[in-house]
Amino acid sequence: EKLRDERIEYLTKERAIKAVTVCFTDLEGRLHMLDYDKKFLIKSADNLTFDGSSIRGFSAQQESDLRLNIDWSAFYWLPSDIFGPGKVLVFSEVHERDGTQYHSDLRGRLKLLTESMYQKDGTVVHAAPEIEGFLFKGRDAEHHFHEKGHFDFISTGGYYHSLPGDVLRTFIDKVAEAQRAMGFQNEKDHPEVAPSQFEINFSYSEALIAADQIQLYKLLSRQVAAQLDCTASFLPKPVTGVNGNGMHMNLSLSKGGKNLFHDQNGPDGLSPMGWDFIDRLLTSANDICLTLNSSVNAYRRLDPHFEAPNQIKASANNRGAMVRIPFGNERSARIECRSVAPDANPYLVLYTLLRTGLEGPQPQEDAEAKRSRTRFLPDNIFDAIRIFKGSQFVASILGEGVQSKFAELKTTTAERSPKQLGTRVKYSEVKFH
Ligand code: GLN
Ligand code: MG
Ligand code: MG
Ligand code: MG
Repeated sequence: EKLRDERIEYLTKERAIKAVTVCFTDLEGRLHMLDYDKKFLIKSADNLTFDGSSIRGFSAQQESDLRLNIDWSAFYWLPSDIFGPGKVLVFSEVHERDGTQYHSDLRGRLKLLTESMYQKDGTVVHAAPEIEGFLFKGRDAEHHFHEKGHFDFISTGGYYHSLPGDVLRTFIDKVAEAQRAMGFQNEKDHPEVAPSQFEINFSYSEALIAADQIQLYKLLSRQVAAQLDCTASFLPKPVTGVNGNGMHMNLSLSKGGKNLFHDQNGPDGLSPMGWDFIDRLLTSANDICLTLNSSVNAYRRLDPHFEAPNQIKASANNRGAMVRIPFGNERSARIECRSVAPDANPYLVLYTLLRTGLEGPQPQEDAEAKRSRTRFLPDNIFDAIRIFKGSQFVASILGEGVQSKFAELKTTTAERSPKQLGTRVKYSEVKFH
C-alpha cells in the first residue's frame, strides 16, 4: 500500500511520463500490454478491468470480465530510444471480478507461492535463465518463411564470434544496454553456437523477478530487432541442422543468506536437499514436460546432437541430461534444468519446477538406480499432452481446470501441424509463433 502510494505520487510528479503500459501474461506465455494514459491510470489504478474472452487460455464465457491488479513492486522505465519518450511499464495480476485470484494467471500464483515460502520459514528462491534466440533478416521473417520455406541468418559467425559492425553484435549491444537501463545485472553476452544465434545473460534474482525479466528480455529483443529491420525469434528449433534455442533454468534455494543446495562434501557439491529436489524433478519429468516444452516445435530441439537434452537424468557434464549440476561454490551452487524452451510460459515453468522439486513424489525405486538407468523425455507433443493430461500430480499442483485448459489449447495447436514429425520445420509451427 505504501509502495502503491509512493509510485502513484511519482507518476503524478514525474512530468516526463505520459503513458503507463500495464501488462500480464496469458496461460501460454504471451505478454499482453495495455497502454493507459497516465492521468487516466492514476484515477483508475485500483479499478482496471479487461475483457478476457479474446485471450487464449482465459476464454470461458463467464470469465470474460477480469480485473487487473497492478503489482507496484514490478515497475520499470522503458528505454526511450527504443520505446519512445515518457513510458513506464508495470506488471499486474489477473483477478476475478470478486477479487479472488484468477487460476490461469500463473504470475499471481508464482508470487503467492514464493511469498508463502518466505513467510513460512524464510526460504528464498533464486532463478537465472539463459535465454537463447535467433536474429533473422527482415522485420517480417515469419512472412518470409511462409514464402520461401526458410529463415535468413543475419550473420554467419558462430560461438563468441564478434566483429565490430556485425549486425548481430550491434543487436546484442543494444539489447544489453537496454537491459542495464532497466535494472538487469548483466553478466555476459555472446553470439551462440549456431549462426545468427545470441544469448545475453544476467544475474540471478528472486523467482518472480526472474520470470518478469524473461518477458522483458523477449520484449526488448523483438523491439530492438525490428529497429534493425530484423526479427528476434525464440522458436526452439527454427532451423534444421543447427543448434536450437534453449532457456536453461538455473535454480537454488537459500535461507538467511545460506545456499541450501550447497554442500562441499556432498556429491557434485550438492546438499541432500539439492539432490532431493533433483530426484523429485526426474520422477515427474514426463508429467511436467508439456509445461517446459509447450509447442510442437520444442520437441524438435530436444536432441543431444545439438546440445539439447532428451534424457531424464542429472549429470555434471553430459549435456544430453535434462538436469546439469554446474560446478559451484557456496554462492553459486545450483541446479540447471536444460529441458526448457524459450517459448514456454516463464511463470508456469518456475511454478511447476518449484512445486515439483519441493513436493513432487519421491522416486519409488532406489534413487541411485533410477539415475543410472536411461529414461527419455517425450519426443513429440502428442505424447507429452497425453501424459500431462493423465497426471494426477499435475492436477494436484495446477488444479484440474488449468490442467485441462492447457492440454486443450495445446491439442488444438498440435492438430494443426502434421502428425508425422519429420525433421523439417513446418509452416504451421512458425505461424503459431
Ligand atoms: N542451444 C543449446 C540448447 O538448445 C544450448 C547450447 C549451449 O548453451 N551450450 O539448449
Ligand atoms: Mg549459457
Ligand atoms: Mg547457451
Ligand atoms: Mg546453460
